Amino acid sequence: MSELNDFCSRHVGVHDETRQEMIEALGYERIVELIEDAVPAEIRDDRQMHLPAAMSETDALDLLKMLMAQNELVKPMIGQGYYGTKVPAVIQRNVLENPGWYTAYTPYQAEIAQGRLEALFHFQSMVTELTGLDIANSSLLDEATAAAEAVALARSSKPRGTTVFVSDKVFVQTIDVVKNRCEPLGIEVLVGDWKSVDPSAIDGLIATLVQYPDADGSVEDYAAFHQQVHAAKAKAIVAADILALTVLTPPGEFGADIAVGSTQRFGVPLGFGGPHAAYIACTDALKRKLPGRVVGLSVDAQGKKAYRLAMQTREQHIRRDKATSNICTAQVLLAVMASMYAIYHGPNGLRNIAYNVHYMTLVFASSVAAHGYRLVNESFFDTLTLEAPGQAEDLVEQALAAGFNLRRMGPDCLGLSFDECTSKDDVMGLLAIFGVDEPVMPPEEALAWDEVCERRSDFCTDPVFHCYHSETEMLRFLARLEKRDLALNESMIPLGSCTMKLNASAEMMPLTWPEVADMHPFAPEDQTHGYLDMLDSLSEWLAEITGFAAVSLQPNAGSQGEYAGLLAIRRYHQSRGDAQRLDCLIPTSAHGTNPASAVMAGFKVVPVACDEEGNIDVADLKAKAEASGAMLACLMVTYPSTHGVYEATIKDICETIHSLGGQVYMDGANMNAQVGLTSPGTIGADVCHLNLHKTFCIPHGGGGPGVGPIGVAEQLVPFLPGHHRMEPRDGAVCAAAYGSASINVISWMYIVMMGAEGLSEASKIAILNANYMALRLREHFPILYTGNRGLVAHECIIDIRPLSEAAGISVEDVAKRLIDYGFHAPTMSWPVAGTLMIEPTESESKREIDRFCDALISIHGEIQEIIQGQADAEDNVLKHAPHTAELVSSDAWPYRYSREKAAYPMAALREHKFWPHVGRIDNVYGDRNLVCSCVGMEAFAASQSGE
Ligand SMILES: *Cc1c(COP(=O)(O)O)cnc(C)c1O
Repeated sequence: MSELNDFCSRHVGVHDETRQEMIEALGYERIVELIEDAVPAEIRDDRQMHLPAAMSETDALDLLKMLMAQNELVKPMIGQGYYGTKVPAVIQRNVLENPGWYTAYTPYQAEIAQGRLEALFHFQSMVTELTGLDIANSSLLDEATAAAEAVALARSSKPRGTTVFVSDKVFVQTIDVVKNRCEPLGIEVLVGDWKSVDPSAIDGLIATLVQYPDADGSVEDYAAFHQQVHAAKAKAIVAADILALTVLTPPGEFGADIAVGSTQRFGVPLGFGGPHAAYIACTDALKRKLPGRVVGLSVDAQGKKAYRLAMQTREQHIRRDKATSNICTAQVLLAVMASMYAIYHGPNGLRNIAYNVHYMTLVFASSVAAHGYRLVNESFFDTLTLEAPGQAEDLVEQALAAGFNLRRMGPDCLGLSFDECTSKDDVMGLLAIFGVDEPVMPPEEALAWDEVCERRSDFCTDPVFHCYHSETEMLRFLARLEKRDLALNESMIPLGSCTMKLNASAEMMPLTWPEVADMHPFAPEDQTHGYLDMLDSLSEWLAEITGFAAVSLQPNAGSQGEYAGLLAIRRYHQSRGDAQRLDCLIPTSAHGTNPASAVMAGFKVVPVACDEEGNIDVADLKAKAEASGAMLACLMVTYPSTHGVYEATIKDICETIHSLGGQVYMDGANMNAQVGLTSPGTIGADVCHLNLHKTFCIPHGGGGPGVGPIGVAEQLVPFLPGHHRMEPRDGAVCAAAYGSASINVISWMYIVMMGAEGLSEASKIAILNANYMALRLREHFPILYTGNRGLVAHECIIDIRPLSEAAGISVEDVAKRLIDYGFHAPTMSWPVAGTLMIEPTESESKREIDRFCDALISIHGEIQEIIQGQADAEDNVLKHAPHTAELVSSDAWPYRYSREKAAYPMAALREHKFWPHVGRIDNVYGDRNLVCSCVGMEAFAASQSGE
């Protein structure tokens, strides 16, 4: 297929002669023959996918522009967790629009991730101090899921608790998600008036959840209430507005054990609901169970300060079937943006923004009050609820005509939230609608909250929040951090299972168009047709690609898709009077999120063995399925398997499960090996999640955002997640109806530019690249699993264990040595300990793949030197890798090998060399001296000096 369309030929990395060379190296003449051998005939499906014809970058951008022009942009004063914000241009251009930040992988290789780890560390400090709690993680998916995670965290210290109380003044979407997450766990959710509830009278109370300021806008003092909560041996959770916390008493000072919220209004576009970074913070007592990733401080081999993910190596914070959380992909890019917003403005700047917002609100409130309107909330920060008996709808319409979206609350009431973008003219314009010509100007220092709610403690105390307030300084700070990270703009990131393919610039450009960025998720439907059309088409295309009846784009990560899909299965069984079907079969090779999601969906995990080849042990599977019998809910299976091979038995496996009344859940993380060649629907799955941030080009963002849509077969369609903003209204799994809506434009662009043929071509080249790579590496490293005719699917696992044993080096040593060669390590020790799983993707060129293979082969040679005694068993290039510029150029050089060998082991590196900012990081030290925010810097310095 040499007449590739423009874009496809740029997305795919190998062409013409090199492509042919690779095919022939594998012993084939044409790629179709390779694919025929690699993909078992049993599962092949060559039907032509009904997708739009491929378009060039410019045509696709024009089309999307036209589509999104149907959106009507109105000033968003709806509030309820989403607010207008000014994205500082220096952050928009240098973070959000910068591949150096957005194409990075999750920071598991900390030595080449110091930039984003530092940014996340500051995020944690900011959250810790703003909430007045002891520790924060480095982001969750959104406020609603964060609240649900907080409930699970509270429950970990009261496992026998049965009930959660949620204030009826918590945002609706949060109440919905908490309810839905509690239901399968058997936790009852009581929603009511916190002022009249007696916590000690609630049996088995696990936690209470209140909103601060609440959904109506009131700033309440919860101190006394929280004393009662603690007396009932329950935990107090507060969902708090991040901007309000700069001026209001932090939750930690009025008895909160856990605080959650969104950091969207710290400079992250609305995007019709996301992505935005949520935060979670808790007291010291709860820190060991805190969900998600936590960045901590440690030291490197030379004793230099270094950041790393704390208390966890790769995804081990997901505790499989012991899990209380399944969070994996989070919101790194958006957390970086929020962190940088705080650094850019500093604490005084943030407070000024907050006081300005408050003053606008105050002027409006005093003016309409003087004009006879009654305020439902006497105290407020930025949100007002007004009584306007019989006139509310009319006022909302007039406001709309003047360009403002107010919050609709029925015929007698309306709400409005002010934000950083509200101008004086906006306030005057709004007042005119309420019949006020002359505003009432309250004194500048007037505050509409009780004195006890006034913040007295400092926040953002670390020097970093005081140094970068000029754009020049900020620009250089961002560039400095960016250069410490190895992202896709440096070299390939061959992360098995994670599909780090091209994130084309044309796909990314629409993200910051106002019609994409500035839409409130609760804007009236008739203003959102551009978005709805775009999301509809994408859902349709994904249904076509997966062979399913319908798709929901709501889940905002793969893990959330798993959870949503399993819930659909659960509700399907319930609807058929089969509520007892709760056994979920999961092969032992599954990703950690699978069992974690199953537990959260209320299932019992039944492990299924794998044979020596890494295939599902079909006999064991059948035995387990039969043993479950009428209790069998489903099988969760990854395809191609996590070992990177197409199991020919998959159809048979699906039939077995169906014949016993179970459903098949397919983990679609490996969809890059299926698109256009086969599909979950063809294979026989009933539901499958996709990771749009893997297969469909949404960049990894350094560990998020993601989109994890699910496709389902006909019988499961009624059980797709709903939302209070759409039909059906129940079953939401995240805060916004369409989850991280805005980044779906990336996948939309990808599919439109590739077309059906281009998409299958991508899968074929992904398979070609993986097999070519396996071929080159095979002589030096055993390929752990292969399928038909010794071929792999779109990734391959190389076994390091024989070398480890012979030379006393670990897979980690190989990973760190790759950094000296300018590469990010492949997936380490998953799904098999002591191995590397490599996925080149279709986007890499032969040249880059060869470069990577050359590096691995050269490392193989270095290991041979150890085995043969030419290099010392301890003092060698692997054990001391990676080597920093500082180390290599220092006057002291204590090692037995040369500096040249350390830093320039391959000639090509002289052309271009990526230097890690720190050397090998000491994980044990970091876990023993856990420091997760700047407030602990003194303690850190003290521990370093041996005190
Ligand atoms: C990435 C991945 C997941 C989890 O997806 P997230 O988006 O990180 O939540 C699940 N299963 C497999 C096999 C994966 O590779």
